[in-house]
Amino acid sequence: MKNYKTGTSTWTYGDPCHYENGKPMNILLGPCPECGTPCFDYGGGWRCNSLSCSKSVNNPSCDLGNLPTWWTEPINVYLDGNSWCATYDDFEDLQISPAGFGDSPKEAIENLKELMKMYPDVVDNK
Ligand SMILES: [Zn+2]
Repeated sequence: MKNYKTGTSTWTYGDPCHYENGKPMNILLGPCPECGTPCFDYGGGWRCNSLSCSKSVNNPSCDLGNLPTWWTEPINVYLDGNSWCATYDDFEDLQISPAGFGDSPKEAIENLKELMKMYPDVVDNK
């Protein structure tokens, strides 16, 4: 299973969470597209574990849409200073590996995907 290390949290996709009477009620999914906090499955959809996030269970809107597809892609997001950075699992360094940046994980992912569209041969081992 995929391991995440965002700079603020470390977890594994699919790990149990939110125990009630010793039984896990949910499983952890990918980083919140908005704030990077671990998300979890919720009524067929997903929610962010940060209660101050607009994608938390406090959000009265019941559908946040499908699970972000990048959660199951070989992509990592993490805080780099004040920015979110998105890289592929085989990232080595900024000189030779593509990296996307943004104010949120979602923006960093979009930036990385945009980069890959403009320079499809930037990574020739994909
Ligand atoms: Zn969030």
